[in-house]
Amino acid sequence: MSAKSVSVLPSPKTSVVQQPNISIPPLVGASLEELTGWVQQQGQPAYRGKQLHEWIYQKGVRSLSDISVFSKQWRAEVAEIPIGRSNIHYRSVASDGTVKYLLQLSDNQIIECVGIPAEKRLTVCVSTQVGCPMACDFCATGKEGYKRNLGRHEIVDQVLTVQEDFQQRVSHVVFMGMGEPLLNTDHVIGSVKSLNQDVGIGQRNLTVSTVGIRDRIRHLAQHQLQVTLAVSLHASNQALREQLIPSARSYPIEDLLTECREYVKITGRRVTFEYILLAGVNDLPEHALELAQRLRGFQSHVNLIPYNPITEADYKRPNENRILAFVKVLKLQQIAVSVRYSRGLEADAACGQLRAKKNPDINFP
Ligand code: SAH
Repeated sequence: MSAKSVSVLPSPKTSVVQQPNISIPPLVGASLEELTGWVQQQGQPAYRGKQLHEWIYQKGVRSLSDISVFSKQWRAEVAEIPIGRSNIHYRSVASDGTVKYLLQLSDNQIIECVGIPAEKRLTVCVSTQVGCPMACDFCATGKEGYKRNLGRHEIVDQVLTVQEDFQQRVSHVVFMGMGEPLLNTDHVIGSVKSLNQDVGIGQRNLTVSTVGIRDRIRHLAQHQLQVTLAVSLHASNQALREQLIPSARSYPIEDLLTECREYVKITGRRVTFEYILLAGVNDLPEHALELAQRLRGFQSHVNLIPYNPITEADYKRPNENRILAFVKVLKLQQIAVSVRYSRGLEADAACGQLRAKKNPDINFP
């Protein structure tokens, strides 16, 4: 445990009063070593760190004053130090059991996260930013603009919140909510480590999805994580990609693919390419063929996402035959492919529909 990581954690009450709350990094997301260092810094024995760790990650405590195994006096001293949990501002349930949460953060910003139950799994889709600056044409989050990056604690909190609400352990996390994870690399990597080591989710059950930010995929690879990298390709050529994704203009598809190849080389992990299917735009058999040629020899998997409608765009979801025809071309070209039918569609909780606002057109139970 380095002295540096100890000092980033909050000091006891006396110094809290002197500093504005915003400068105090909260405890959620901190490792056992960090928490142990912090309690020791407060003059407490090391074993209190283990207790604190257990109360944060196993018991989901929301205030240090509720940790009954701590002495009364110390609890009173640290009572004002934030643990770093959000509040559920709004919750809606889709008929398929998917639950969408609007979470209120300490500065009153609202983000969304989604809990997706399946037979033996509970997947959480987490946000990494408040809003998103990428402005992809088909995505609701981008229409609302960008506010700020989320902290490590705010990412981990989303998983703890869903776990608590479902009363079930979260098995998988996808970084596919609001925001572009690779514009917030430090906190995304910090949260990956915490979700793995503190919450106990296997790294291979964590998926980070990115539209691709120059040099950041390489940077991520150098951390040698075992997470799955999903890259939002969405087009089979540069012109089409530019039409859908503004940032593609300054980061051409071939540069992106070169970086993805390096990722595979450095990590030994294959990359998933996400490809949104927009009727009449990028879903024709010739697009599938072009995509297959572009990905030839690439250790990858293509995940097709039929478009989920948003009010600001007039794209259409292709019909089932079109989707199957696209799949068939890729399969014939020996490309590993699957179709992701997003869950939670009618709760506005599907891919691309997150906007941190209640949709006035939809009545929730
Ligand atoms: N910024 C990250 C995470 C975004 S959301 C990224 O771009 O990968 C996760 C996936 O949902 C991305 O592939 C995104 O392009 C896709 N998506 C966005 N809007 C969508 C929509 N309306 N329908 C289907 N998928 C959508």
